Amino acid sequence: MSDLTLPAWIAKAVILAATAVMLAIRAPHGRRSRSIKVARSHKTPLETLLLVLAWIGFFVPLIWVVSPAFAFADYQRLSGSLVAGLTCLAIGLWLFYRSHADLGTNWSITLELRDEHRLITRGVYRTIRHPMYTALLLYSVGQALVIPNWVAGFANVTAFAVLLALRLGAEEKMMAQQFGDEYAAYSARTKRLVPGVW
Ligand code: SAH
Repeated sequence: MSDLTLPAWIAKAVILAATAVMLAIRAPHGRRSRSIKVARSHKTPLETLLLVLAWIGFFVPLIWVVSPAFAFADYQRLSGSLVAGLTCLAIGLWLFYRSHADLGTNWSITLELRDEHRLITRGVYRTIRHPMYTALLLYSVGQALVIPNWVAGFANVTAFAVLLALRLGAEEKMMAQQFGDEYAAYSARTKRLVPGVW
């Protein structure tokens, strides 16, 4: 192993720490959201499938940390990718924290509208409509850059890309149905995931 190679134990420590931060950010919102009634659910069988996929993407890197199950797919990564990966993970986690704070009680893990649901257009929602998805995308790219394993490294980013491709349109349709002109005006002045781009 050359000095330039990223040691697996560092990658494992980074993945565990990032997962702990992510869970700590989500936990209070998950608890709170369970106490607020769902007014309208748009949860389809496809949504259930996408959630299962997201959970697989979440757990595969953790299985890689604690077991040799994916050893067949190990490869060597240069330490430089750790810097790029840490940057993606840190920005992703910050944006995840901010989007949860701004969305407040309007958050759901799936497509549903809660009692007294309000359209949020401020904070990190001012320039993009899906900052939490941008955050999770950055986070999953960060994992791909840090984990020196083809399966565990790309599990989350693959699962999330599929989820985004199949959910984004349905979510926007649901929001447009619920908020009408207000959502149309909001869509006209914002982008989906990347400020100023798309
Ligand atoms: N797509 C958003 C929110 C993800 S959570 C993001 O990436 O930041 C998914 C739930 O958030 C949806 O079921 C919907 O009820 C709610 N939601 C999405 N955009 C919203 C907004 N601008 N204001 C209020 N609720 C929103």
